[in-house]
Amino acid sequence: DRARIAIETHARLVPDFPEPGVAFKDLTPVLAAADGLDALTAALADACAGADLIAGIDARGFLLGGAIAHRLGIGVVAVRKGGKLPPPVIGVDYALEYGSARLEIPASGIDFHGRRVAVVDDVLATGGTIAATLALLAEVGAEVTDVAVVMELDGFPGRDVITAAAPVRVHTLCTG
Ligand code: IMP
Repeated sequence: DRARIAIETHARLVPDFPEPGVAFKDLTPVLAAADGLDALTAALADACAGADLIAGIDARGFLLGGAIAHRLGIGVVAVRKGGKLPPPVIGVDYALEYGSARLEIPASGIDFHGRRVAVVDDVLATGGTIAATLALLAEVGAEVTDVAVVMELDGFPGRDVITAAAPVRVHTLCTG
């Protein structure tokens, strides 16, 4: 299919990033290609079709999320790394393999209560980032229906971690 071909054509494998021994799948060039952005967002928009709000995760999830929301005629909100949003915010701290991270969403100005939200990101690995996002969205009363990600990394429990955290559908376009 078009998305898979675009990924095979444009994705880049970066050895030893962000640490020695890790092979980073870089989808940035797929998004930079007109056919790539179109193919990825068309496929992910299908997966998010029941939602009325897209939540895009920092930072490539912003690019995908905006384009998907625009296709669907719905809005988008950025789930940002800590310290970037103006107050008031609602945040969640979560553990990484080394250290911890924080994600935040606005606590004012957006009525999340009862919204059907689809969460979008580029790559799913441990599932920690998306599980933290699901916790945040649950706290503000949103109903996350779908999680849509371009690539699911082999050998990681991400999908199981997500479905254990919340009863959502997990859509991925490829594994890698
Ligand atoms: P997780 O929380 O371990 O599932 O990691 C997912 C988050 O880290 C996402 O926001 C991804 O953008 C980023 N990430 C982890 N591994 C990769 C990778 O190989 N390529 C691109 N992003 C990655």
